[in-house]
Amino acid sequence: MSSHVMQPDASSLPPRSDGLLREPAFPILTLDESRLTPALGYIFRRGWIYPHESLISILWKFETANALSGVVVARLMGLEVDAYEGVAPRRGLVDVGRLQESLGLPADTLRTSLMDPLGSRRYSDVFRYCRRCLALGYHSVVHQLERQSVCPAHHRVLESRCWRCGCEAPYRVNVQLLEARYHCAYCYVSHGGTWTPENAHPMKPEHRRAFTRRYLDCCLR
Ligand SMILES: [Zn+2]
Ligand SMILES: [Zn+2]
Repeated sequence: MSSHVMQPDASSLPPRSDGLLREPAFPILTLDESRLTPALGYIFRRGWIYPHESLISILWKFETANALSGVVVARLMGLEVDAYEGVAPRRGLVDVGRLQESLGLPADTLRTSLMDPLGSRRYSDVFRYCRRCLALGYHSVVHQLERQSVCPAHHRVLESRCWRCGCEAPYRVNVQLLEARYHCAYCYVSHGGTWTPENAHPMKPEHRRAFTRRYLDCCLR
């Protein structure tokens, strides 16, 4: 890890005092040039987020809902982060306070979306996914846990290699993975995802429980 992507751990910042989503008055994106963050007019609903959803998955939804490019979204990570090299979505490396401000999501949701190598939790360095989850627009931090070989909800073997070109994408918030969204980051073949704000629906309660149980199990063992 090169030193210039290191940032102070902002995970200790207090949650937004009003606890509210900033609802846009108009669905028009305007960029605050000084910070290069969409400060006004973006659309994002807390209900789109599933439990234990990964930061990359959250950012894909944000990107899709607002027709943003991967370059613009990568800049949410901070101007000091090289957008193409990106940053590992890990606690202590990602500035949660900044993201909270940009996305209008609770700090807890954002903290949970990051790798947290506590106890016996070990995470894969490459993007791993369940195709059925991706079809729902969902990727979880649980899918990245090394000891997890199947999806807790669908019991499908987790994949990392593209079925067509065989490439694996590094698990980093960078332009390449942000641009790929539900596709291979190298050959752009679809990996099954079709999420849009119009077809978004809540996670099934049994799936919700399965992810939470798996996440907690991994911490305790
Ligand atoms: Zn799944
Ligand atoms: Zn591919």
